[in-house]
Amino acid sequence: MRYETLTLAQLHNLIIDKKLSIRELLDYSFSNIEKYEENINAFISLYKEESYKKADELQKGLDDSKSLVYGIPVAIKDNMVIDGKETTCASKILKGFIPPYTATSVKRLQDAGAIIIGKANMDEFAMGSSTENSAFGPTKNPWDLERVPGGSSGGSAASVASGEAIFSLGSDTGGSIRQPASLTGTVGLKPTYGRVSRYGLIAFASSLDQIGPFARRVDTVFDVLSVIDGYDAMDSTSIKDSYPLDIERIELKNLKIGIPKEYFGEGIDLEVADIVKENIKVLSGVVRDVVEVSLPHTEYALPTYYLIATAEASSNLARYDGVQYGYRAKDYEDLIDMYKKTRSQGFGEEVKRRIMLGTYALSSGYYDAYYLKAQKVRTLIIEDFKKVFEDVDVIITPASPTTAFKLGEKAKDPLSMYLSDILTIPVNLAGLPALTVPGGRDSKGLPVGVQIIAPHFREDLLYKVGKFIEEENKFYEELPKLS
Ligand code: GLN
Repeated sequence: MRYETLTLAQLHNLIIDKKLSIRELLDYSFSNIEKYEENINAFISLYKEESYKKADELQKGLDDSKSLVYGIPVAIKDNMVIDGKETTCASKILKGFIPPYTATSVKRLQDAGAIIIGKANMDEFAMGSSTENSAFGPTKNPWDLERVPGGSSGGSAASVASGEAIFSLGSDTGGSIRQPASLTGTVGLKPTYGRVSRYGLIAFASSLDQIGPFARRVDTVFDVLSVIDGYDAMDSTSIKDSYPLDIERIELKNLKIGIPKEYFGEGIDLEVADIVKENIKVLSGVVRDVVEVSLPHTEYALPTYYLIATAEASSNLARYDGVQYGYRAKDYEDLIDMYKKTRSQGFGEEVKRRIMLGTYALSSGYYDAYYLKAQKVRTLIIEDFKKVFEDVDVIITPASPTTAFKLGEKAKDPLSMYLSDILTIPVNLAGLPALTVPGGRDSKGLPVGVQIIAPHFREDLLYKVGKFIEEENKFYEELPKLS
């Protein structure tokens, strides 16, 4: 039995009916880890012994009042802190950093009885689209070990695609959940900005970062969302109102779908575009209407993002100076020299590039021309979506311009790597929720993801449309051939 292909509700029933023990489910995860991890490298740390201890405790406390995540093995991207557990952000500079507290989302999962089996690999500080920018070596795509799983949450995605974890948490600043979900045939949800607490998520670009789940099943990501969802006083951007996932009241036949013409043009692989269009065609048979729409400022999203994200990153990453966290250079002359050497040795190439870009964009004399201008364009992008959502309920696009690319293929060319997120970045700039659902495979057998975008706090719409696409494709029945 491939347990990751079942929904949490199905797994929960097996556990409650004592047809599957929590230990057996954990055995399933760790046997996959034993078999595949050497090739995939989805994890930075694993907590085997304590996971088994936890499993036995949970089994004793089992009753049918428990949450759907109770006893379920989960991987956490290594940019979320857990009390007493090394948290590295896949960076040398945080090597040895042991946080004294736990991120709210992780805490909520733990309190509901989920078993955290380890910390997942990622691009350093979540900067990248391939998980090649990790100080712990790249993660490989379970569908083809010569290819990348996408990024930056590549470890979270690959752990689920290989059955090493039943679900995982990642973070999405410019696409880092939806793009790797697309490349690994998993479902990935980026919630509305402010819905899920960022407390304990190590900041990359604070106005864009959002935590979200990966799984093989649409139901699972929404069940996980309902556990991590909700106000948190520890995050000043957390939304106070609650937006329940009232899924039952939506009817597909009432929905109007928008297809933005800017998302199917230049740079988008033809096979990818065709598979997404095929899904839209099937959907058009059950919804009220499908119309072409325009998001005219789409072409400015990438430069806008790379100004705002790098500016925020340069400020957020200033704290890693060798004094408070992790790594410190060995030989230095004075304090300034210690800062310099620590940061030069501790950060990888991509992170340094971003810090330099961001520092430049924020420097006096350039601030108005770059950062302020980018903020203004961000507003135009927000307005684009607002206008389109006056007419349609959801927007459908590809999630990634290509299927999984080869390791090393884009590593030396940052611009071509940045283009991997051209279809996901506008969503972060506008703070919207979006879901990637597998829509089929290309002629190489690689997964293609469909992206569904909804207005703020309308994750219920994502669920409804995502579930339809899932049911049509039954992609969860397809498994990567791993040995
Ligand atoms: N790939 C994008 C970047 O490198 C997005 C990363 C992310 O969402 N964390 O910035």
